[in-house]
Amino acid sequence: MTLSRSLKGSIALVTGAGSGMGAATARVFAAEGAHVAVTDYDLASAEAVAYEIAQEGLSCAAWGLDVSDPDRIRAVVGEIAAKFGGLDIVINNAGISAFCPIDSDAYDAVWAKSLAVLLTSHQQVIRAALPHLRKSAAPRIVNIASTEALGATSRDSPYAAAKAGVTGLTRALAVELGREGITVNCICPGPIATGMTAAIADDDKAVFAKRRTALGRYGQPEEVAHVTVSLCLPAASYITGATIPVDGGLMARNA
Ligand code: NAD
Repeated sequence: MTLSRSLKGSIALVTGAGSGMGAATARVFAAEGAHVAVTDYDLASAEAVAYEIAQEGLSCAAWGLDVSDPDRIRAVVGEIAAKFGGLDIVINNAGISAFCPIDSDAYDAVWAKSLAVLLTSHQQVIRAALPHLRKSAAPRIVNIASTEALGATSRDSPYAAAKAGVTGLTRALAVELGREGITVNCICPGPIATGMTAAIADDDKAVFAKRRTALGRYGQPEEVAHVTVSLCLPAASYITGATIPVDGGLMARNA
């Protein structure tokens, strides 16, 4: 059995690729020879990442894509498949943080937005991509959840509920699509230095990471991106339905 470790010529869609882990993932896919659809709610940031990748002589294009807009999802997936000649890999990465106490007046609005952006969007991107994935030689889906899907932080229930939903969606679709050779896995990042955590002071980051993670530090977006890309290799053909913490040992640590 020869299993390829090359992504050369694969076509990958990354949501929320204008910043943080999505941008790092787009860069790593491109460096591995994939054609990358760099999509983000913020078109300018997607274009900036695509420009930087293209400067390296690598293949990519940018789209503005709000993942809470199902019509736009269908349109952009169609445009990506038309431009690159198909779609092999979907990375559901776009995200927002959504802290909100349970008794806040804003709770229902935060809940609705969190579920739309962090969970509903995953199934909508996957459903739009499915006809193309079914034509791929090595179809791969990776959903980005969070360690908040496995444990929880106070006042983070909309986010934690959505991310736990992502792990359930991942397992269910892995089972449903497995016979077609489509793998569906999910990554649970721990504390990663991205746009989402930029407002946390460096000292507070350091204290948290020393107290809570085994490695004693925040992770870098590239350290998650490489795991995501590994799950998408043609050779990663027998891993599906998995929930993989990439968290510096946060979930492993009791004391
Ligand atoms: P980030 O803020 O750097 O990047 C998130 C990107 O998503 C941004 O470019 C933003 O414009 C985009 N986005 C937001 N709403 C969108 C929408 N409606 N449609 C399309 N794009 C949208 O944050 P990040 O940390 O790189 O986040 C990536 C993923 O990782 C998210 O799903 C997040 O929940 C998850 N995550 C992050 C951490 C962390 O510590 N940073 C930990 C666990 C999980």
